[in-house]
Amino acid sequence: MDLIVARNRDDLVKARTGGEVALVPTMGALHEGHRSLIRLARARADQVVVSIFVNPLQFGPSEDFSRYPRTFDADLEVCRSEGVSVVFHPSAEDMYHPDRQVSLHSGRMGEIVEGASRPGHFDGVLTVVLKLFNLVQPHVAIFGQKDAQQLALIRRMVADLDVPVEIIGAPTVREPDGMALSSRNRYLSAADRQVALALSRALREGAAEPAPSRIRAAARAVLDAAGPELDVDYLVLVDPATFTEVGETYSGEAVLAVAARVGATRLIDNVILTLNPA
Ligand code: AMP
Repeated sequence: MDLIVARNRDDLVKARTGGEVALVPTMGALHEGHRSLIRLARARADQVVVSIFVNPLQFGPSEDFSRYPRTFDADLEVCRSEGVSVVFHPSAEDMYHPDRQVSLHSGRMGEIVEGASRPGHFDGVLTVVLKLFNLVQPHVAIFGQKDAQQLALIRRMVADLDVPVEIIGAPTVREPDGMALSSRNRYLSAADRQVALALSRALREGAAEPAPSRIRAAARAVLDAAGPELDVDYLVLVDPATFTEVGETYSGEAVLAVAARVGATRLIDNVILTLNPA
């Protein structure tokens, strides 16, 4: 069946074929990471809907909304080649009525770590994701572990607001040298990219250590060695469900997460570790 491009709720309703629907929300500029989410979606449902929407609400005034890459034709080809049924590509005007009043607040968890650097970001993310859920009405939705705090907050939203959708987290797809794929990587020069490799290296070296203090120190040493071109925003070792820092005796899964700027490009990455297994 040919790929349908839906612009609004009516188009989405018409495109519904019955059976289970999986939604993969994206901002476009699709890469192998997005493809892996689409493949998971296909394995879980009869119909896959990929949304492509650069959400103005989740960008701060000094962030890269206007220069965010937009490659819609190439994205359609990716979706076609992956067997996607519907691409939902609304306009900002259709998504956000000028009179709108009500939006979501992501709470304390939306104000720490990534949220501390990007005030309002997670409010914008949750608002658009809930709107996408209401428009597409998927049975399952797939999100990347690459945006670990976003994934945790979406799980929180679904639990706190009883949203009838199953959330699936997908592992981060990386380049052979360890660099996490990101739509923003295309901004990096070859020299920037070399500097940016310190993020994934720091996570790897941190993950090889046994205890929180040593994990943090090993990762920090790699970031420090990268020099002044790497402008580190944060390095944290947190509980994956709450994003609060873990203590030395913590046991269970933890997320080692980093954010840094290389030139004008802000990058994030993380790994999941198991601490003090029983
Ligand atoms: P974005 O288009 O950047 O908003 O991302 C759309 C979805 O793809 C989000 O759920 C991301 O977490 C996920 N994603 C982004 N990069 C990767 C990656 N390298 N591997 C797996 N998923 C990713």
